[in-house]
Amino acid sequence: MTDSPPPPPLLRMSGVRKSFTGTIALDHGDLEVRRGEVHALMGQNGAGKSTLIKVLTGVYPADAGDIEYEGTKVAFRSPYEAQRAGISPIYQEINLVPQRSVMENVFLARELRRGPLLDRARMREQTTALLALVGIDVDPGAALEQLNTAQQQMVAIARALSFDSRLLIMDEPTSSLHDREVETLFGVIRALRDAGTSVIFISHKLDELYRICQRVTILRDGRTVATADLSEMSRLDLVATMLGRAPDAISQAGQTAFSRRGPGPGRVLLQTRDVAVEPKLRRANVTVRAGEVVGIAGLLGSGRTELAEAVCGATPMSGGTLELDGAPYRPSSPREGLDHGVVLTPEDRKTEGLVGLMSVRENITLSILGRISRWGVVRRAEETRLVQEFMDQLSIKASSSAQPVAELSGGNQQKVLLARALAVRPQLLLLDEPTRGVDVGAKREIQELVSRSVDDNRGVVLISSEMEEIIEGSDRIHILRDGESVAYLDARSVSNAQIMIYMASGGSEPEDEGDTSATMHNHQELR
Ligand code: ADP
Ligand code: MG
Repeated sequence: MTDSPPPPPLLRMSGVRKSFTGTIALDHGDLEVRRGEVHALMGQNGAGKSTLIKVLTGVYPADAGDIEYEGTKVAFRSPYEAQRAGISPIYQEINLVPQRSVMENVFLARELRRGPLLDRARMREQTTALLALVGIDVDPGAALEQLNTAQQQMVAIARALSFDSRLLIMDEPTSSLHDREVETLFGVIRALRDAGTSVIFISHKLDELYRICQRVTILRDGRTVATADLSEMSRLDLVATMLGRAPDAISQAGQTAFSRRGPGPGRVLLQTRDVAVEPKLRRANVTVRAGEVVGIAGLLGSGRTELAEAVCGATPMSGGTLELDGAPYRPSSPREGLDHGVVLTPEDRKTEGLVGLMSVRENITLSILGRISRWGVVRRAEETRLVQEFMDQLSIKASSSAQPVAELSGGNQQKVLLARALAVRPQLLLLDEPTRGVDVGAKREIQELVSRSVDDNRGVVLISSEMEEIIEGSDRIHILRDGESVAYLDARSVSNAQIMIYMASGGSEPEDEGDTSATMHNHQELR
């Protein structure tokens, strides 16, 4: 073997930093992409992936750091400049014009002309060639909106190729694609790679990353924490690095400060059978009994939120069935879910949950006005008693119950959202990231209140990206991976590492790493 020096990489970003007022979005981003490689960029929500890409493509200037592209130092001042240098981001939301034709979209904003007229013949000819390259057979004159999502995505890629792109950036390109379409996309990516084009591939779907990417860069809290060959990095190591955990860190629920002591499981409250919310959630089989908290663990994009939304009626299911307390149940709106005693506190309290300008009192009683009213008039005394009770129980810090919630801290806002849900006295409470952005003290109070809200007639579904929260706050842990139910674990005896193994491992059967303290119930419960 001769030791010829490796060719210089196509792209080398080092020590890139970008902050916005009050937030360091990217603290120290390093990324090296070789020619002709598909490079995965991974990191939890908020890790800084999009910011790194936006700095690269000239959307924002960097505060510090260097970018070298094709051997020269660069600092693109606009996406247009980056595009001219051959860097083409293909966003999740495709930035094309649905009503225009395929060829007009491919040549959008730089139409080919002959004199003052559009040169339709030449655009059609070149579009046909590009479409052949990305493997779709559609009429260049057809309106873009007549194409399915996968085809539209291919048109976006064809457009990128027409710029002679050397670096394509795909942010969650498969999140709206069905299996067959993913195969087509992967075929195109491989062909591009073989022709020397480089691709940055952002996705949380591990199976896909391992299939299509050669190397991975992992961001955590705005810093690049690892770059590795995927062939040399196990899924478990990858997930552990992304989450910032040693894969062998064992956290026994009994040793943590908070530990749930439920009344013990009773009758089945909720049964989901092969529930699907295409394309993210494909097959969820979850059982929740009265008296228990079922934690749902899974990586971003595994379908956790979609599951909760389907159960509360906020999102229609594309397949499967639900049973609530033994009876068929198919809510078509959150109102209908509420009528059945099913309530969700959403992940994003700002956009979906709280009404900022309304008072703490109004927010808490929003869902139960019917109950505390008589002849259409809210009984103030009853309302005051209830609101005070929740404010005390949850130690909601507000100047008074009349203070607008927008003025409260994140933790107190979250408590108001929870109070509103609890005020309903739900049979089934669905919590999506209930303690995100909440300080440690408030977190404990929320956990305890949730735990106390469970009794012989009530159950809770707890979705969280924080392993400790799931372990501490649940009785059983249900794992979703790439939209499918893969395992149940007993929260009392499970470790961080075991959960990660199930979240990360490929194939249909979870790997058993020899530790049997994680009990599998999947054969009864999942089928
Ligand atoms: P990712 O793409 O990995 O989910 P982002 O790069 O979008 O992460 O965000 C990293 C962090 O920077 C997050 O905390 C996010 O809230 C913050 N952030 C991103 N863009 C902005 C912005 N324009 N203004 C303020 N904060 C931002
Ligand atoms: Mg992002």
